[in-house]
Amino acid sequence: MALPDPKSLKLLNHVPPRLLSAAERYLKAVPVVRELLSKETDTLLSELEGSLKPYRGKMSAFERLPVTGRSREEVLRELQALEAQEEGRWREGKVSGAVYNGDEEHIDFLNRVYALHSQSNPLHADLWPSATKFEAEVVAMAASMLGADAANAGKVPAEHVCGSMSSGGTESIMLAVKTYRDWARETKGITKPEMVAPSSAHPAFDKAAHYFGVKMVRVPVAADYRADVAATRKAINRNTILLIGSAPGFPHGVIDPIADLSELARKKRLGFHTDACLGGFVLPFARTLGRQVPPFDFRLPGVTSMSVDTHKFGYAAKGSSVVLYRGTALRAHQYFTATEWPGGIYFSPTFSGSRPGALIAVAWASLVSMGEQGYLEATRRILDTADALKQGIRAIPELHVLGDPLFVIAFGSETLDIFKVMERMGERGWSLNGLHKPAAVHLCVTLRHAQPGVAERFLADLREAVEHVKAHPGEKGTMAPVYGMAAAVPFRGLVSDLLKKYMDLLYKV
Ligand SMILES: *Cc1c(COP(=O)(O)O)cnc(C)c1O
Repeated sequence: MALPDPKSLKLLNHVPPRLLSAAERYLKAVPVVRELLSKETDTLLSELEGSLKPYRGKMSAFERLPVTGRSREEVLRELQALEAQEEGRWREGKVSGAVYNGDEEHIDFLNRVYALHSQSNPLHADLWPSATKFEAEVVAMAASMLGADAANAGKVPAEHVCGSMSSGGTESIMLAVKTYRDWARETKGITKPEMVAPSSAHPAFDKAAHYFGVKMVRVPVAADYRADVAATRKAINRNTILLIGSAPGFPHGVIDPIADLSELARKKRLGFHTDACLGGFVLPFARTLGRQVPPFDFRLPGVTSMSVDTHKFGYAAKGSSVVLYRGTALRAHQYFTATEWPGGIYFSPTFSGSRPGALIAVAWASLVSMGEQGYLEATRRILDTADALKQGIRAIPELHVLGDPLFVIAFGSETLDIFKVMERMGERGWSLNGLHKPAAVHLCVTLRHAQPGVAERFLADLREAVEHVKAHPGEKGTMAPVYGMAAAVPFRGLVSDLLKKYMDLLYKV
């Protein structure tokens, strides 16, 4: 299909956004344009459909319940076949992030823990007091790792760092935003709450803003890709309830100036959330290993909440995270109670009602089986691998590393279309993350990349990819123009519409 040249679209970036969205609405209302757009998106999506649905026509698919149940052996055989198809790439370390540990023995151990507790649900604290014990201990261990010991010293228990487990980083962040919204309404009477975040902060904050009626004010990052403190200060007004920083942020892997940001928040009596979803189980150990890690956790008096993902570098199974608060009074705004329901008095600390006790047990088992020594060793291997990768990428003249990252390495190019490089890497099995604003690609280094030979293979393939793109300037690629256009097209509503159609596609059997 004919995609507009991203370069020509960039000119439109100088048009005021309000004018653009008005133009977009106007254009979409013109039947010819609408028809053209829907034809173009349909073509694009049907091209994607094949690669998204590789099992179609190759195995049984269910659009309704089978009348009689299938045999367990048959179901297991099918699941095993699917797993065998899919495990290769992450096991070999060909993907950015995604599987953070992946060691066979570690996974087997977690699976045994899951099997033991698969029926457990902390909603029934009387039936499964073990789930409550595990959750309380995971929260305590995460807090202690993130500066709570120093923060709690000399304080009464109600002022200690506390928290909850959630289903993942997004839920942890959404819980925190909802907590601040209710805190600000009750303690300050703010009814039109706003929060200020650097452009790099995770979209989970936008999602929370969208769900909970909080206005998101995004501030561009500075030249080093870290949050801009002066610009953040300017964005604060009387409705501001919360400032945000990441340690590190997902796109460029750099740590925001949390000390300055949180101090700004403290002086203005605002909440401050450090998003350590990605770095919470890495940075404390990196510091012990002698790396330069700026302060980012509860040791800073202005940090009032944090998120940290047990299901990333905590090496637990997917579906668990921790949200932490400074003091139980703040956490109380997260809780929900219903006292008038005929079903009895009801309470729930997080968004879900019933929760998977098994995943809490798995997170607990991961933490206590790894121990400080285990996390230190894992962090050492990841940082050494990341160092080798950074060095190798910097040695390629056409590429440059964005900012000064620890273990999430974003790189771009002044002379080549970096998305074409990414596409070429994709042909060699590497699944990297495409970034935009500016166009770049990143690799989140995990234990998978610390396996012997993986970093060397990555760098060799990257050198080849760069040479290939240089030697074939006319080659368009299939995904590269889509990325280019998604990054450059000024009508963001169109991009959003396309993403919604893409999600529809995911739900097609
Ligand atoms: C992964 C991540 C999140 C969101 O976590 P999910 O577990 O995907 O919901 C938030 N912030 C950062 C920095 C992350 O890396």
